[in-house]
Amino acid sequence: MAQQVDTLIIGQGICGTFLSFHLERAGVPHLVIDELRPYSASRIAAGLINPVTGRRLVTTWMIDELLASALESYGQLAAMLGDSYLSETSITDFFPTAQMRLAFLDRLAQNGSYLNLPADETRWNACFRYEMGFGTIRPCYLVDMQGLLAAARKRMLEQGFLLEQRFEKEQLQIGTDQVRYGDLTARRVIFCDGIESFTSPWFPRLPFAPNKGEVLIVDIPGLKGCTTTESPVFKKGISLAPWRDGLYWAGSSYEWSFNTEAPTKMFREKTELLLKNWVKLPFTIVDHLASVRPATIERRPFVGFHPLYRPVGILNGMGTKGCSLAPYFARQLAAHITTGSPIRPDADVQRFIKLLSR
Ligand SMILES: Cc1cc2nc3c(=O)[nH]c(=O)nc-3n(C[C@H](O)[C@H](O)[C@H](O)COP(=O)(O)OP(=O)(O)OC[C@H]3O[C@@H](n4cnc5c(N)ncnc54)[C@H](O)[C@@H]3O)c2cc1C
Repeated sequence: MAQQVDTLIIGQGICGTFLSFHLERAGVPHLVIDELRPYSASRIAAGLINPVTGRRLVTTWMIDELLASALESYGQLAAMLGDSYLSETSITDFFPTAQMRLAFLDRLAQNGSYLNLPADETRWNACFRYEMGFGTIRPCYLVDMQGLLAAARKRMLEQGFLLEQRFEKEQLQIGTDQVRYGDLTARRVIFCDGIESFTSPWFPRLPFAPNKGEVLIVDIPGLKGCTTTESPVFKKGISLAPWRDGLYWAGSSYEWSFNTEAPTKMFREKTELLLKNWVKLPFTIVDHLASVRPATIERRPFVGFHPLYRPVGILNGMGTKGCSLAPYFARQLAAHITTGSPIRPDADVQRFIKLLSR
């Protein structure tokens, strides 16, 4: 039976979920097609929104604007889903080296936003080994990505706007002002398909830079006793973040060059050793996951419409920061679709007009 929708969204990771959400709020009829991949980037992410990163602890690109927008969008989504998947947290940043301690103190002296020193340096002595002390980063936010994506997916299925199936690119027919996919006709299709877009017939020239991340899921029963009321994220080279079912997420790697997308023995052994040298409590490894981040060479997202194939759009390239970038740019793209308002030039794919027009 022929079906007509305004917008077709490919992918229900964090990008597709927020685009669907903002389009629904704007009253735009749409359909999402997603084949459930348990190890997509969104489904294995720690879900951390950290306002300062890197060795020099600089505040990340657009962070104040992104945080304000994220808090609003996650709040609105929580109201729609009937549950909240965002919580405020802090990072306890154990300095791995004397240089990192100095970098933290330098940064604190220049610009103290988000950085603090503890009143009591012995606070975590019972649970962790840390010879160089620690600082704290706050506020940070933690998104329960698995919970959020599952709840959004359940609602989409109930409301009848999610098709659980593989989207076959070869079957998409593109016209001047509409697309056809089987019996389905839409005014536009937006690809929120993560790393699949790297090999897309429409966007292969975009400067994507796949980045692999591996993670261990660990059970550290004694850690709850150490944290009492707080439940921070811990960091010392790698991060240890609260995960589902009282477990911890330990990772991750950032690999620009890799031979396999699968979990590797090397990461497992290296991370297990790091944990043994850092955490004083007994722990067991419960799972080992890996995925590829849809990152970009210039570390800016890809948002907007193809200059030649006008009904074909993209929301992608969130790299290591999908949790904060996706809500912001999904809202911007939804507004662009409904009101024609501009997309930030440094995120708009129109900046690659020459590359995409070849
Ligand atoms: C180990 C790791 C840790 C991370 N930690 C964080 C973190 O703490 N904070 C943070 O902000 N970011 C983090 N990230 C980055 C974050 O996960 C990504 O930026 C974000 O998830 C990308 O979302 P996406 O929706 O673009 O893509 P994806 O999550 O890959 O979603 C794409 C969706 O498209 C679907 N799909 C693709 N092709 C097809 C097709 N042909 N047919 C049907 N469906 C299709 C897939 O099934 C999937 O559901 C982490 C990433 C990794 C790998």
